[in-house]
Amino acid sequence: MSAFDPKRTSPSGIVALLVGRMRRWSSCPLSGQCCCPMQRPKAKSWAGCYPVRGQAECAIFGYEENMLNETTIATFKSSLRGELIKQSDTRYDTARKVYNGMIDRRPLLIANCADVADVITAVKFGREHKLVVSIRGGGHNAAGLSVCDDGLVIDLGRINYVHADPKNRTVLAGGGALWGDVDHAAHAFGLAVPAGIISTTGVGGLTLGGGIGHLTRQCGLTVDNLLSVDMVLADGRFVTASAKENPDLFWAVRGGGGNFGVVTAFLFKAHPIHTSYAGPMLWSMEDAAEILRWYRDFIGKAPNALNGFFAFLTVPPGAPFPTHLHNKKMCGVVWCYTGPLKNAERVFAPIRKFKAPALDLVGPIPHPALQSLFDPIFPPGLQWYWKADFVRDLSDEAIPLHVKHGALLPTMQSTMHLYPIDGKASMIKKTATPWCYRDAKWAAVMVGVDPDPANKEKISNWAKDYWTALHPYSAGGAYINFMMEEGDERIRATYGKNYDRLAKVKKRYDPTNFFHVNQNIKPAK
Ligand SMILES: Cc1cc2nc3c(=O)[nH]c(=O)nc-3n(C[C@H](O)[C@H](O)[C@H](O)COP(=O)(O)OP(=O)(O)OC[C@H]3O[C@@H](n4cnc5c(N)ncnc54)[C@H](O)[C@@H]3O)c2cc1C
Repeated sequence: MSAFDPKRTSPSGIVALLVGRMRRWSSCPLSGQCCCPMQRPKAKSWAGCYPVRGQAECAIFGYEENMLNETTIATFKSSLRGELIKQSDTRYDTARKVYNGMIDRRPLLIANCADVADVITAVKFGREHKLVVSIRGGGHNAAGLSVCDDGLVIDLGRINYVHADPKNRTVLAGGGALWGDVDHAAHAFGLAVPAGIISTTGVGGLTLGGGIGHLTRQCGLTVDNLLSVDMVLADGRFVTASAKENPDLFWAVRGGGGNFGVVTAFLFKAHPIHTSYAGPMLWSMEDAAEILRWYRDFIGKAPNALNGFFAFLTVPPGAPFPTHLHNKKMCGVVWCYTGPLKNAERVFAPIRKFKAPALDLVGPIPHPALQSLFDPIFPPGLQWYWKADFVRDLSDEAIPLHVKHGALLPTMQSTMHLYPIDGKASMIKKTATPWCYRDAKWAAVMVGVDPDPANKEKISNWAKDYWTALHPYSAGGAYINFMMEEGDERIRATYGKNYDRLAKVKKRYDPTNFFHVNQNIKPAK
């Protein structure tokens, strides 16, 4: 570290230092890639120059180790099968964008890895040059945890192969595959893997955080269906983790996020699900309290073959929704029944009898169609702000608060979902994976969404107010994949008694916390 600190050094001291180091400055090895105001007159401040965020420091301030000069970058680039994108490349602005339009980070380099060899090279390069490193799967994380400022993004988007094996009922997916890729490949064999409800979400982030969706009650969380992973660790080693190989690592990745390494392949158990009886059923907002009470009592007793998440939403102004409902705030349940189709009408009879829905779009639907039903409502680039909690009991006191805040949905795409996490997901022991809220009944998420950045405050404030009102009725922690950057305490609350074990595994596989752009688990001391 240079002795110079712009916050502490006097102006005359700065001049002396500059003069003293003029010779080195004139041959600055960073060649204008740093944010030195001398090199780039439009740079925002001196503060951004010192240090150059842990990568390579400007020659003015001495310190010539780990320099990221053009030659170093060119050597790195030539050792990749994939692409290396720099700030000066035309593709840069597209490549650094993530799903949440609120996130605006500027990495130094984006390594668009084509294979495992590229990932190993990128991890070693990041280590050698002391770069902040983030891992990008599908880029869906609302907190933008796949992209970093001034560091290296290891982008797995090109490693998106999927192989379905009908004989063994398994699906192998590359670390950068999207769920739509998996649904497509598995469906051809009448198979499905439990995932989330939007097909453009990455397999990587969703799986490593847990994975909740239409099949949670039937088949458990996504991690409950994970059989093994291939990974590149922080020291560049390639390992497989499964129940038999590196079982401690396998335990940790089933909920512990991207803390332990770059997962280059996921092997899942698949289920014989081809066409389910599924879709949304909507009721008037005036009936919301009654529907919520009924839903609470009904879903807990429903067979595991029936999943249904509750939602407050605004009806989109377009097909297939009838015009008289366009832009109306409503409540509803999105059902998914995977039992025999011949039994479906019988299973749904009591639901339809309880209160005739204002809109009933439930019927037979192929699994990939269900998985992508909501994709058009949520294209990439919208502004997103989330708050979440686990819920054990939807009490009579909490219901009026839900109805109050649900009726205040600030924009057309904003929503609140209560995802059931009981059924098969609750049959796994609390310590079997890091996901310790096996006794909670729902994962609640308040999601403010809008295309217009001017509405950022509006959607965030609504989500925060809603969450603040309901948090006292929650179980404590929250699903990490529904959290923004909320700090260590919330992460600890989420993993509960499993946190210390995660910290020990972290210490074993990533003792320097190299992979820290995530819901971070600190290595045990
Ligand atoms: C519209 C939308 C709908 C969603 N619906 C659901 C849902 O139904 N169910 C649900 O469970 N979640 C859902 N989520 C949340 C989702 O699970 C998280 O946003 C998740 O992080 C997305 O994964 P990703 O790979 O796309 O994310 P990224 O932004 O690419 O990565 C997220 C985190 O995971 C790490 N990571 C990603 N891939 C890898 C890898 N291969 N190896 C190591 N680390 C990796 C990253 O480093 C980062 O820390 C939804 C999110 C959005 C935006």
